[in-house]
Amino acid sequence: LLLALVSFAFIAEKTPIIYKDASQPVEKRVEDLLKRMTLEEKVAQMNQFVGLEHMRSAEKDLTAEELSNNTARGFYPGLTSKDIGALNEKGLVGSFLHVLTAEEANDLQKMAQKSRLQIPLLIGIDAIHGNAQVSGCTVYPTNIGLASAFDPALVEKISRETAIEMRATGSHWNFNPNIEIARDPRWGRVGETFGEDTYLVTQLGVACVKGYQGADFTGTDKVLACIKHFMGGTPINGTNGAPADLSERTMREIYFPPYIAGVKAGAFTLMTAHNEVNGIPSHSNKWLMDDILRKEWGFKGFIVSDWMDIEHIHDLHKTAETNKDAYHQSIEAGMDMHMHGPDFFYKVVELVKEGKISEERINESVRKILEAKFKLGLFENPFVDLKKIKNTVFTKNHQQTALDAARKSIVLLKNNGILPLKAGQFKNVFVTGPNANDQGIMGDWAQPQPEKNIITILQGLKMVSPETNFTFLEQGWNIRKMEKAKVDQAAEMAKKADLNIVVVGEHALRINWNDKTGGEDTDRSDIALPGLQQELVEKIHASGKPTIVVLINGRQLGVEWIANNAAALVEAWEPGGFGGQAVAEIIYGKVNPTAKLPITIPRHVGQVQQFYNHKPSMYFHPYTIGSSTPLYPFGYGLSYTTYKYSALALSKTTINDKESVTVSVNVSNTGKLAGEEIVQLYIRDEFSSATRPVKELKDFARVSLAAGENKTISFTLPAEKLAFYDKNMKWGVEPGNFKIMVGSSSEDKDLLVTNLLVK
Ligand code: BGC
Repeated sequence: LLLALVSFAFIAEKTPIIYKDASQPVEKRVEDLLKRMTLEEKVAQMNQFVGLEHMRSAEKDLTAEELSNNTARGFYPGLTSKDIGALNEKGLVGSFLHVLTAEEANDLQKMAQKSRLQIPLLIGIDAIHGNAQVSGCTVYPTNIGLASAFDPALVEKISRETAIEMRATGSHWNFNPNIEIARDPRWGRVGETFGEDTYLVTQLGVACVKGYQGADFTGTDKVLACIKHFMGGTPINGTNGAPADLSERTMREIYFPPYIAGVKAGAFTLMTAHNEVNGIPSHSNKWLMDDILRKEWGFKGFIVSDWMDIEHIHDLHKTAETNKDAYHQSIEAGMDMHMHGPDFFYKVVELVKEGKISEERINESVRKILEAKFKLGLFENPFVDLKKIKNTVFTKNHQQTALDAARKSIVLLKNNGILPLKAGQFKNVFVTGPNANDQGIMGDWAQPQPEKNIITILQGLKMVSPETNFTFLEQGWNIRKMEKAKVDQAAEMAKKADLNIVVVGEHALRINWNDKTGGEDTDRSDIALPGLQQELVEKIHASGKPTIVVLINGRQLGVEWIANNAAALVEAWEPGGFGGQAVAEIIYGKVNPTAKLPITIPRHVGQVQQFYNHKPSMYFHPYTIGSSTPLYPFGYGLSYTTYKYSALALSKTTINDKESVTVSVNVSNTGKLAGEEIVQLYIRDEFSSATRPVKELKDFARVSLAAGENKTISFTLPAEKLAFYDKNMKWGVEPGNFKIMVGSSSEDKDLLVTNLLVK
């Protein structure tokens, strides 16, 4: 008997464990592992916690009693970081988010390796514009700035570099791209979107997915993309997570296309939105998650909840009487992973034991999560090589990409001719404003970075124009707590200068949540400059010296007074770690600005919501008091050179609904400087069975032109791009006339027009 036992043990030892064998196909490894897992181990894969360092730093100042009662962000009553650590060592945690150092990522993985099956952890983070929450990584411009570059290849490149920096520092899953359509600047999160246009957002969302995941996220330098937030819509009042009340037509025409394209590009994860849609919370919305996403679009990946939003089905939306019911509803509707907290784990195990959720349903979710872990190579090596970080993040190449991106993302809104400044033209230049010498240029989803890695605007100016004498007055970065005395002091200093540069806007950096004026959870009822910034600009302008205003912001700001009064206005958005250099290069003409607005800038909050692709009746009755036109339209942006458009032509003037037409236009650089122009193609369906927008962007191209050069630009326009949902909600192209418009912005005066007949 003893011999039999020993030889059995020997054979068991020698039988390869399929799930640990990298040469086996992923599908086989998943099934093998699944067979070995207990119910608890499976449900644990569906559960995520915030990084333990986050919890520890929040716990630091609490007494034992407070710890056991605490319900603050990041906590659960009675459960501490220690308890979560213990769960992790037992294999009862599947995922963490916001693990901000490679050392912590390794520690957490080490704990998970102590468990019975040694399933590695999947670590997620919001690396929206570079892995900017991790110290030492490259910080690129935020999404709204990247959208201004109208350059999908650039976004794909940044996404690839971001993935490499994430893997080098321990994260495998990026909660980006945010492919919501931004239609309300009161919403603090506009800066993390690609703007208001469905076509542009779609192109850039796909570029992110390709950059993060590569062909299918197989490999050790790939990360999972996460398209989100499904279905955000435009929150009523601009308040984050407010109800979305949207017609199916608006959803299908405006909000769905970026998701459809993201799914088609292979995005393996999707995050549901805080808000309800037409009365049903997104997190329990079976129509959205199952009927639309999985059945209609064929999504094969897994869905993650947003931060504790499944609980909100119960405690906020009140469509579930208990958390347990909320978990039940959410999983039945299609949810695969829960973001943060232990309650889900315990309650879902109970639900399965009670026969309310089948174990097969749990298997469905777990299979996909394991598939991701296998393909990402985590079973082979869940650890980060700390020695390799230095040569992988913030490399010379990545720095160069961040600088190029900043140069391409800054929009010149106004120039009375003062820009570009000539060397030595203004000897004494006064610089001030909360963002003039501050890391606030990085925007939201960023933590302060080592000083040597960031070029502030003041530093950029000094670097680019060493012959100029710059004086500077620190206004303090905290816009909510600006000092009036400092504003007055700036006004005095302005009088002594030859020129003033004022850097105003918002501060979204994650230093202290209560001081932020931009980014997540900083919605506003007004879009004027916050704090004393308007007063600062007006007082400096009153000096009588020319004043250049630089804006740092994510959402659009109502800056009509500045547009009317400043000598020049530069929309820098949140240009990232090299933003200061790029701004200075544009001001001093080392770089010719090329960016165009991916979003309409209203004059003031009363015009909200305002977007270019509105329906024909929107301004049939214009405001009688106040303007109906935007301050700056979608697609607008100045250059130091001039372009002339001519000879708009179609390869044929009539097509059927299966054909394509070639649209060509001649663009010539009529100025004295080389430049890059963003050529835009819009269409308008003239008469249709359901109303159509006055214009819709259908293509664009970045074209570089030397001074005096001209090029013929061609776009292929397939009839498919003219399709819409007709009065019976049937998708297709209706016969009739279409206006084809090509030019330098969405404004009529900037567009050449011709007609295309669809038979
Ligand atoms: C945001 C998500 C984000 C998550 C994790 C939430 O508050 O809405 O977009 O991915 O936090 O940081």
